[in-house]
Amino acid sequence: MAHNSGTLEKKHAIDKAEQVLYKTYNRFPVIFDHGDGVRLYDTEGNEYLDFGAGIAVMGLGYKDPEFTAALKAQADKLLHTSNLFYNQPAIDAGSRLLEASGMEKVFFTNSGTEAVEGALKIAKRYAYNRDGHGGHEIIAMKHSFHGRSLGALSVTGNDHYQEPFAPLIPGIKFAEFNNLDSVKELIHENTCAVLMETIQGEGGIYPATEEFLRGVRALCDEHDMLMMLDEIQCGMGRSGFMFAWQEYGVKPDVMTVAKALGNGVPIGAFLAQGKAAWAMKPGDHGTTYGGNPFVCAAADTVLRLFEERHLTGHVKKMGDCLWQRLEAFADSHDCVTAHRGKGLIQGLEFNRPVGEIVNKALLDHRLVLISAGTNVIRFVPPLVITENDIDEMIEKLGAAL
Ligand SMILES: *Cc1c(COP(=O)(O)O)cnc(C)c1O
Repeated sequence: MAHNSGTLEKKHAIDKAEQVLYKTYNRFPVIFDHGDGVRLYDTEGNEYLDFGAGIAVMGLGYKDPEFTAALKAQADKLLHTSNLFYNQPAIDAGSRLLEASGMEKVFFTNSGTEAVEGALKIAKRYAYNRDGHGGHEIIAMKHSFHGRSLGALSVTGNDHYQEPFAPLIPGIKFAEFNNLDSVKELIHENTCAVLMETIQGEGGIYPATEEFLRGVRALCDEHDMLMMLDEIQCGMGRSGFMFAWQEYGVKPDVMTVAKALGNGVPIGAFLAQGKAAWAMKPGDHGTTYGGNPFVCAAADTVLRLFEERHLTGHVKKMGDCLWQRLEAFADSHDCVTAHRGKGLIQGLEFNRPVGEIVNKALLDHRLVLISAGTNVIRFVPPLVITENDIDEMIEKLGAAL
């Protein structure tokens, strides 16, 4: 009976949600109540294995005691002051982020989208300073994803997302990811930047090839364009490197981070080095909440715990394990047509839409998976998963198929 009344309460809550919340999502009929490690628990007491991490956000997993303690301590001290004043957590988190990335300046935002907005403004401001006029162009990639604001949407290479909101910001050209010639063809004297994800996430888990990333770096140097890498999904240790570009032996002029930076506390950042680090001036950009003491204490703690626990080393090991298991899975299932990715950002492509598999995995086997595009299942678990968790996931995935 307890179970039945729980089910009724849940139905009631979901009906209410559909009345209240602006419907821009088709949600799964699950209400999560709490989490622990890589496990989530719904309001009816069911346990789930989580391979989505709230879309690559919960790097440290749920209910990490040290992380939670740091949030509570900061909540007791000070939440917000505005950027009219300095605050120590922002200095600490900023220093750690520069140390981890080799960048020179950081600006904290409230989301990934806003980090991308900042990067776009750096590119425009840089070219304006140089040439004394506006009207510059930015090259972005087809099948990319950079966020939902009008600026970030303008560089998101997906007609379906863009069309209802046209006209977007002008001067954006789309090249083919991993096709250097297609970038070259779009460059002319007014091009000021090239923007891309180091590993395309929403587009279906496509890592940049080394040739492509190095080639873009060389083109940017040759034509005085800024190389801007969106590390919002693939950064923060997920690739097995703190930032995915660190594996390639290139360094961007501008990079964006968010998602796992706050482990569930909303914070993003854009970072810049060299000529890009000085492009914007006081008055050019701002935010009320951005970089407040609370969110920066979260980011500072995340960065500290990553280092103390050698999390990138763990990701490399677990990434290899996940790779082997998914290779074997692909070999034994004809419906799997491709396997891509690095570390703990991997994707399996199927010969059909994966919506039904994802749905069944969640509702029948209590495994949280997320798709990337229509035909790809994306595996982006909390970075703290173990080999046993991976084996359990493979078993449940097989059952869902
Ligand atoms: C999620 C994502 C964004 C947008 O971040 P939000 O926090 O949702 O605004 C931008 N770029 C990439 C690569 C992402 O994965």
